[in-house]
Amino acid sequence: MNTSLPQAARIGAIRHLTDNTALFTLQLDERPAEHQSSPAHFQPGQFLQLSVAGAGEAPISYCGFPSSDGSIELCIRKAGRVTAALHAAALGDQVAVRGPFGHGFPLSHYAGQDLLLMAGGLGMAPLRSLLLALLHQRERYGRLTLLYGAKAPEALLFRHELADLASRKDLQLRLAVDRAGECPPGLPDCRVALLPALLEGLTVDPQRTVVALCGPPAAYRFLVPPLLERGIPPQQIHLSLERRMHCGMGHCGHCAVGTLLCCTDGPVFAYSALQTIEGAL
Ligand SMILES: Cc1cc2nc3c(=O)[nH]c(=O)nc-3n(C[C@H](O)[C@H](O)[C@H](O)COP(=O)(O)OP(=O)(O)OC[C@H]3O[C@@H](n4cnc5c(N)ncnc54)[C@H](O)[C@@H]3O)c2cc1C
Repeated sequence: MNTSLPQAARIGAIRHLTDNTALFTLQLDERPAEHQSSPAHFQPGQFLQLSVAGAGEAPISYCGFPSSDGSIELCIRKAGRVTAALHAAALGDQVAVRGPFGHGFPLSHYAGQDLLLMAGGLGMAPLRSLLLALLHQRERYGRLTLLYGAKAPEALLFRHELADLASRKDLQLRLAVDRAGECPPGLPDCRVALLPALLEGLTVDPQRTVVALCGPPAAYRFLVPPLLERGIPPQQIHLSLERRMHCGMGHCGHCAVGTLLCCTDGPVFAYSALQTIEGAL
């Protein structure tokens, strides 16, 4: 299957997560063979191009676990033409997807490491995909920590799943919100603080810790320095960069970051690859 060609898919399920964000499960019309390249076969951190007829195409991160049945989970916030058209669509409506594109999180290098996941806002979407992959083979990894910040308790995505995570003994979960409010039942304290504050008092062994960061691009300037101060090497800080993309395939140069292209060299980069590029963060 050619990843640059759109594949038809139908909306199989819609789960509303907040007032403007929903989890869409798409079902490819053509179920892919196990080893066939397909938009349903991906690495956490990669993205696909989603198109809705009459609205256009937009890059969206994979949010679920790679499936063998041709289903794809995407967590989508209503932002503009394409995403609004999807939010207005109904179960069974047709869309098209092409991908996967880009480099995701280098999971094969994470075995035996402690993983510190830090998500801000919609950054929880790609990190959920990584988290599901880590939990699928939990025994392969060391300490697992998720720090997640949102605007308010009601803006936290995947609240039911967070409650399940909070009850696990093999994962530490800390939450931060910008605006005070009632924390949903089953969740740890929703601390009114910025995401970096959740690092306070956290036990981190810098040499064996890999950090996966996903958040609004502006947040990285505040997230990376405290990690470096804790002695985590720049090559062990992996972050997903979001730039406005056009082709998604390295042809148009729209998403250039210095000499790198976000769509084909990223969107997941080690901080060591970005730290000398002015304006990268
Ligand atoms: C790698 C990657 C992964 C992503 N993953 C997700 C995801 O998982 N979920 C998700 O919801 N979103 C994700 N996004 C963001 C999503 O692709 C954008 O929000 C996209 O613009 C939505 O398309 P749209 O047609 O709905 O919105 P658009 O019509 O493109 O508008 C989106 C917003 O951008 C503004 N805008 C439009 N054109 C420009 C321009 N030229 N310059 C600056 N601002 C402009 C609009 O005013 C509006 O506020 C991802 C983006 C990237 C690059």
